[in-house]
Amino acid sequence: MALTGVLGFPVAHSRSPAMMNAAFAELDMDWRYVHLPIAPPRFAETARALPASGYRGANVTIPHKLAAHALADELTPAAREIGAVNTLVFKEGSTILGDNTDAGGFLDALGIDPAGRRALVMGAGGAGRAVAWALREAGAEVALWNRCAKRAAALADELGVRAVKAGEPADILVNATSVGLGGEDPLRELPLGPAELVVDLVYGGAPSALCRWAEDRGAQVVDGLEMLVRQGARSFELWTSRAAPLGAMRAALRAV
Ligand code: NAP
Repeated sequence: MALTGVLGFPVAHSRSPAMMNAAFAELDMDWRYVHLPIAPPRFAETARALPASGYRGANVTIPHKLAAHALADELTPAAREIGAVNTLVFKEGSTILGDNTDAGGFLDALGIDPAGRRALVMGAGGAGRAVAWALREAGAEVALWNRCAKRAAALADELGVRAVKAGEPADILVNATSVGLGGEDPLRELPLGPAELVVDLVYGGAPSALCRWAEDRGAQVVDGLEMLVRQGARSFELWTSRAAPLGAMRAALRAV
């Protein structure tokens, strides 16, 4: 049996095992995906030990994405430029490849070509960084807002995009803050104009306040579960070289 899993701390809440194990079952593969709760001081030695225990790869979540970037022997261009890794691939000869599938997964979830469109990204943490990078690479005009304006300015400077201190109309609006997990409304922080497409990276049981706001205004909505499916699908394909069964993955996630 081949093994994969998600390294995080805490990580018991992650829905990735349900999603990935459904994908393996759908394709009748003898693979298994498990929670790997690892405290930060043990991250590097644990990740390095995984291949010898039958692991072919791993996802990496909070708080290890920067440590995974530092650990990887090779980085994809996305991981190198974003500065964070969410997927490790254990290659022959114990080489560890680091990728960031949040960026490509976000673009897959978007469902439209963002080239030439105005995008307003809320959040300059790890997810905001991946999303802003992906949108810029895809040719969007990116504006970046963050609660801490200095952080927005620093990231905007690094990526060559525009930092904003207030909401403004956009074709694509992305919530990449962690606001909304407990049902809070990120709009309290930032009054927004109309948007054609709204993406909320935050996911939970019920539709988020932002998704409901967007639906009420007739905007297209992409929720955090779809983004989770798409970034997971890219990881799955890196490890297995098989096309990810998106339908089975979506169904498993929504059933959790
Ligand atoms: P992070 O690095 O910890 O960044 C947190 C972000 O949220 C920062 O921009 C922070 O702003 C902002 N924030 C926190 N509390 C806030 C508040 N009360 N008001 C306004 N802004 C606030 O976290 P991350 O890794 O970027 O993740 C962000 C969210 O995206 C999480 O909910 C995560 O689960 C989600 N995510 C989802 C997927 C998916 O596949 N669906 C993938 C990646 C991430 P400051 O800089 O001002 O503190």
